[in-house]
Amino acid sequence: MKSDVEIAQQATLRPIGELAEELGLSTDEYEPYGHTKAKISLAVLERLKDKPDGKLILCTGINPTAAGEGKTTTNVGLSMALNRIGKRAMTTIREPSLGPSFGMKGGAAGGGYAQVVPMEDINLHFTGDFHAITSAHNLLAALLDNSIHQGNPLNINPKRITWPRVLDMNDRALRNIVIGLGKVGDGVVRESGFEITVASEIMAALCLATGIEDLKERFGRMIVGYTYDKKPVTAGDLGAPGAMALLMKDAVRPNLVQTLENTPAIIHGGPFANIAHGNNSVVATQTALKLSDYVITEAGFGADLGAEKFFDIVCPAGGLTPDAVVVVATVRALKLNGGKDKKELTNEDLFALGAGVVNLEQHLENLAKFGVPALVALNRFPSDTDAELDLVRQRCEALGVKVVLSEVFAKGGAGGEDMAHAVVELCEQESNYAPLYDVEDEMHAKIETIAREIYRADGVDLAPTAATQLGQIKADGYGSLPICMAKTQYSFSDDPTRLGAPRGFRITVRELVVNAGAGFVVALTGDIMRMPGLPRVPAAVGMDISDDGTITGLS
Ligand code: ADP
Ligand code: MG
Repeated sequence: MKSDVEIAQQATLRPIGELAEELGLSTDEYEPYGHTKAKISLAVLERLKDKPDGKLILCTGINPTAAGEGKTTTNVGLSMALNRIGKRAMTTIREPSLGPSFGMKGGAAGGGYAQVVPMEDINLHFTGDFHAITSAHNLLAALLDNSIHQGNPLNINPKRITWPRVLDMNDRALRNIVIGLGKVGDGVVRESGFEITVASEIMAALCLATGIEDLKERFGRMIVGYTYDKKPVTAGDLGAPGAMALLMKDAVRPNLVQTLENTPAIIHGGPFANIAHGNNSVVATQTALKLSDYVITEAGFGADLGAEKFFDIVCPAGGLTPDAVVVVATVRALKLNGGKDKKELTNEDLFALGAGVVNLEQHLENLAKFGVPALVALNRFPSDTDAELDLVRQRCEALGVKVVLSEVFAKGGAGGEDMAHAVVELCEQESNYAPLYDVEDEMHAKIETIAREIYRADGVDLAPTAATQLGQIKADGYGSLPICMAKTQYSFSDDPTRLGAPRGFRITVRELVVNAGAGFVVALTGDIMRMPGLPRVPAAVGMDISDDGTITGLS
């Protein structure tokens, strides 16, 4: 089979204006960025505010292998398949982060014959949204250090600054740095560091904001550090929100592109799924819901992280009511969850698979707690055997959950028609969506609810730092924000080696961080990386481009 970039570069793309017009957009409602990308005006939402929304389908997954189990591939493939069976469907996904493309995981624009294109643009600079975020973030950092240098009128304690700098690159050498070295005019010396752009609170805020005014208000609330008497200092205190919003004037609009089968797709925003909420922007999803009858959106990592945050943070923020859930599973990840060595996942093993299906079962039980009908999409890999696929099918059917085989990676939309029919049927069932907890509950109780109901932990322990922060958070008036759990994606627990459906463990919260602009409190468990590094042999080493624009090595 051809590589992802070969398939993508051989695709025939339609002019983006044609797609926009078929969606009913007038020429002043979209702005082309070249021939195959366009920004959609937020005015569309106002014009169509009385039009009923389409059906909203969440694409989520089981606890994955390091390679990912195909949520984006399935999401894109499902939208193509729905269009093939005569439905008006759109996919909305996150913009990939540029840094990791050069590391290990490869791109994030789908795979095989289920991709969004132009994939080389989407995986690299795209329409510049991430560069805008990087600039807005670093502008605030510069204003902060300048304020300290200019006599520190806000009484900021340089040892309590929480706003790092960001860059969209995997660069471990920048994690911990000293800034302000040099002469008197070169600033105040302090320790700082870089995080990856997708970890910026600006990214999370962009994805939850309703427009530029709302984004500006969110900027105003963002905490950059604390004074010597431990009072929060915000971007608003530094007079930064207006200029930051100015840098975001184009980034705030969703991006229209197409799939390999020329169906419309919206790609906008890409917050980390571990320390942030891991979903594309709510304006992208809202826009798609006005422009088509079925919208598939994706939540990062497994359903314990992504889906929980989608239901508890994103849907309330965006006023979204999901109609159906597609849980993507692979035989290989289920075998890994059943204890099989990660180097042997292509060998048939019904024993390991049987043991690992408990992971999928727990996700299905959890999703039922949100009241949204669900089905399982088995993303087929070449090494899967019929006996293995049957085993997964039987176990899910015992729980009353339908399983469909997805072959969109190998066959495009044609490989997802069964899935599309099943999703249409699922959307006809009643959805009784409700978040898991009441945001007005006490902060520790909210974390306990997630840990007990979703992870199946016996309880939550707050490390001393977190316990102190909890008191401070309540005193500062942030107690009613929802929780954004930062946890390993590999396990339901906070220990990445405990696979399957672990029991008999407690969750330790190390730290609590207020993201007042995004509008949640991050509860950090384990060691969560905010600036990834590159592996021993980075993917970048295998990449190339020729004079005629042929790209190799980008996956
Ligand atoms: P996720 O969104 O869950 O992280 P992706 O859709 O990005 O997963 O897929 C992860 C990787 O696996 C990608 O490189 C993709 O091309 C590849 N992939 C997905 N589905 C298949 C499949 N059925 N067969 C082979 N490779 C696949
Ligand atoms: Mg993905």
